[in-house]
Amino acid sequence: MRTSTPLPRICIALGLSDPEALLAHARAEADAGEQFFEFRLDYLPRPEQGIGAIRDFLKERSEASLLATCRRRQNQGRFNGSIEEQIRLLEAAAEAGARAVDVEIESAESATSRLDAFRGRTMLVLSYHNFEGTPAMETVLRRMMRIPADAYKLATTARKPSDNQRVLALAKAHARDGVVVLAMGEMGFPTRVLSPAFGGLFTYAAPYSAEGTASGQIGAKALRGLYRIEKFTRQAKIYGVVADPVRHSISPAVHNRAFQARRMDAVYIPLLTHSGQLKDLMETAGKLPLAGLSVTIPHKQKIMRYLDAIEPLARRIGAVNTVWRKAGKWRGANTDAAGVTKPLARRLRLVKSSILLVGNGGAARGAAFALVEAGARVSIVGRNPERVRALAQACGGEALVAGQLVDHHFDALVHATPMGMYPHAGECYFEDRIPADVVFDMVYNPLETLLCRRAREQGRTVIPGWEMFIEQAVEQFQIWTGEAAPRAVMERAALEALGHGSGVAATDL
Ligand code: NAP
Repeated sequence: MRTSTPLPRICIALGLSDPEALLAHARAEADAGEQFFEFRLDYLPRPEQGIGAIRDFLKERSEASLLATCRRRQNQGRFNGSIEEQIRLLEAAAEAGARAVDVEIESAESATSRLDAFRGRTMLVLSYHNFEGTPAMETVLRRMMRIPADAYKLATTARKPSDNQRVLALAKAHARDGVVVLAMGEMGFPTRVLSPAFGGLFTYAAPYSAEGTASGQIGAKALRGLYRIEKFTRQAKIYGVVADPVRHSISPAVHNRAFQARRMDAVYIPLLTHSGQLKDLMETAGKLPLAGLSVTIPHKQKIMRYLDAIEPLARRIGAVNTVWRKAGKWRGANTDAAGVTKPLARRLRLVKSSILLVGNGGAARGAAFALVEAGARVSIVGRNPERVRALAQACGGEALVAGQLVDHHFDALVHATPMGMYPHAGECYFEDRIPADVVFDMVYNPLETLLCRRAREQGRTVIPGWEMFIEQAVEQFQIWTGEAAPRAVMERAALEALGHGSGVAATDL
């Protein structure tokens, strides 16, 4: 048993139904630099095949640390045998060189004396799983600690944002007891990134080229490269994007790269928050604590009721996309507004310019107020004349109907509907002449929309939607950190993230 060196922070969970595939994946991960692997013996049709796999693997990679698990079906694993058979298999795994074995608390409580077989030979990890929710964590740990072990793993399911905080608080309070904590499910994602910094022994990750073994698990490559879980410290500032859905958001890619470029002790995570859970999220934000938030669909309006101070433009627009804490108070701003005005201001003088805005939804509203405030004359068209009129009246612009556009020409046009956005890339509001010199399409997926292509063909100056995304992110970074944002790095990260994903949703911003 090698207990002298600390365990690596990331354990690659390998659950494969074929011993050769198990070995192949373990080798590939080891080649990529990973050193700690969970071999799920219960995934194999004959779990004893896993013992040979452990032996073979350690023969080749003596530096690797292996955790052997043979979860019983009763506890959501795949092993059909008895507790006695389970413990015998784990003993054989220890004999073969596994540095640690995982025994679920239910088995441990039924066969306490059999656990002596592991003591002094391997690291005994007692585990608790709850697939329904996150109960009182201290109570669960107290129950587990009645049985002496080297580590206690508690895997619960996050049902609300605050479950993350309760799970992480346990790691903080019991760092010396050797705990491994995580909340399963997409909502529990923050625990997978944050638990080692909060005092957890390690976190689990999915292998690079196979499914993970639990919901919400992400790949080690992202944990290391994107979230830098081996770099940020216990004092790191924590930021995140509050959204539903949040899965495809490119904001973590952009902001984490920015923190990395500025060598900041900070991390940015997705915070899935359903409608009706904002209050819970904001209570957690104070306790975790979170330093700042990007806020997006469907929360940009409702977040305002949880803030102590809101910048005047954001109040006029009626939406906040940026939240931060200063002197103990939560503050809110709208950087989407700068996302529209700044790229335009680089191409034309906004004061007294004529701008046509297409659409009357949330993004159009932000653009309308920001452009009027910047001194532009704003005209608005859309498919619902009543809503167009209401927005024009609210912001001090002019409402037009599509038929009036034939004899109009504008300095710039801002398109703010989902037309042309994946999967409707063949749609475009303008069939022929585009009535403006500068054409700004808010849609950024695909990177070049049909509107942008037509505008380019007509010799117009084109502003693609990703510029708006970058601009609002740059402003957020500056508000949060007080430092100039590494714009080029952020641009590269966004384009890379967008280029690789084929189906980024409108709600991702
Ligand atoms: P929203 O609140 O749902 O508003 C959508 C607007 O588009 C409404 O005015 C709606 O008209 C109109 N619309 C929808 N489908 C249409 C169609 N087929 N033909 C004509 N009009 C249509 O959405 P949003 O938040 O304003 O977002 C609008 C677009 O901007 C999205 O594509 C989004 O991805 C993009 N966006 C980009 C950024 C960025 O950083 N680049 C930021 C925010 C938004 P009705 O009122 O008649 O329904």
